[in-house]
Amino acid sequence: EKLYDYVIIGSGLFGSVFAHEMTKRGKKCLVIEKRSHAYGNLFCEKIENINVHKYGAHIFHTSDESIWSYVNQFVKFNNFVNSPLINYQNELYNLPFNMNTFYKLWGTVSPQDAKAVIADQIANLNFTKATNLEEQAQLLVGTDIYNMFIKGYTEKQWGKRPSLLPASIIKRIPVRFTYNNNYFDDHYQGIPIGGYNALMEKFLNGIDLRLNCDYFSDRTYFESLGKKLVFTGKIDQFFNYKFGVLEYRSLRFENKILPIENFQGNAVVNYTDANIPFTRIYEHKHFEFGSQPSTVITKEYPISSSTDREPYYPINDSLNMTIFNQYKEVSKDFPNVIFGGRLAEYKYYDMHQVIGSALTKMKHELKLAYV
Ligand code: FAD
Repeated sequence: EKLYDYVIIGSGLFGSVFAHEMTKRGKKCLVIEKRSHAYGNLFCEKIENINVHKYGAHIFHTSDESIWSYVNQFVKFNNFVNSPLINYQNELYNLPFNMNTFYKLWGTVSPQDAKAVIADQIANLNFTKATNLEEQAQLLVGTDIYNMFIKGYTEKQWGKRPSLLPASIIKRIPVRFTYNNNYFDDHYQGIPIGGYNALMEKFLNGIDLRLNCDYFSDRTYFESLGKKLVFTGKIDQFFNYKFGVLEYRSLRFENKILPIENFQGNAVVNYTDANIPFTRIYEHKHFEFGSQPSTVITKEYPISSSTDREPYYPINDSLNMTIFNQYKEVSKDFPNVIFGGRLAEYKYYDMHQVIGSALTKMKHELKLAYV
């Protein structure tokens, strides 16, 4: 007789929600985590009494009423609204591109005037079809927005000139003709009161958890502990990279504690100039309206991936997707393994989508029509 119904590899959002829901329904779950802490990329470290987002700034947002009420059963959320700024050559501009941005750029007061400036810049381009990202972006928003806000930022993110990147990377660039700096269009957003650890703690409460355990260090042993496996790690690694390595963009974070109360007056400031090596500075306390005497800031530097770096953004181009589809195909031969989450599905998932996916897979597993 096996000790556990489910051995869950990974204590991120997918693994934690899945474990919580199964435990609630009388199943025995064990969560295995290779890091020295749980909670996956939502983990926050307390520094100077400030919740520091260790794996990049996270803002919860959704328009899905059921997911919003689901998370609100566990914690309440604050009313943080993401309104990032751009710093370009020491001038500040609002994001997403909206009437405040256009007013600062061109002095245009009415939406008609701002639209006319953009249309004029597009009409003056000497091409009408995009063969690369640079052309695609200019066809969508004109030359000024592209040159000041997209060109350098994209070059830093991808480590390649936009003229050498495929047009398909950018399908649309959101432009708004209202004075609205709210980055997300979703109905609901916020940060869990007490931080993300407070939410994740609720999911994992009472569930057996082993930290510092890499599933790949002893697959046979971990598999022997349960009837079924839930795998939220990298799918290419699960299959020993037999069809090749799936690529990710990675990030490097540089944290600084500053002995001042307020560094930049905003949670997120993007740096779009190619000459500045980082892409963003977060000031963590502003996610939770903190009034601590000191502050913690993080500079975010994009780096390319390799198997020993943290995988952040999947590069879902045709080459990688061809490889992924082969892994997906062979995974069907493993009925006792549930593959879930951003690494096993090689997919950029927002938090609300991962929760939705974990709930769907849990219901499917238990053949439930409703939760
Ligand atoms: P993860 O959180 O990565 O969890 C996987 C866990 O499995 C990790 O703890 C890992 O250590 C563990 N693991 C892997 N392999 C093994 C192994 N072999 N053995 C044991 N353990 C293993 N979403 C939003 O909604 N809003 C945002 O603002 C937002 N910002 C983001 C910013 C960045 C920089 C990134 C990269 C993502 C952001 N996201 C955001 C997305 C969010 O992080 C994901 O939706 C979420 O973390 C996915 O959870 P997961 O469980 O699938 O993966």
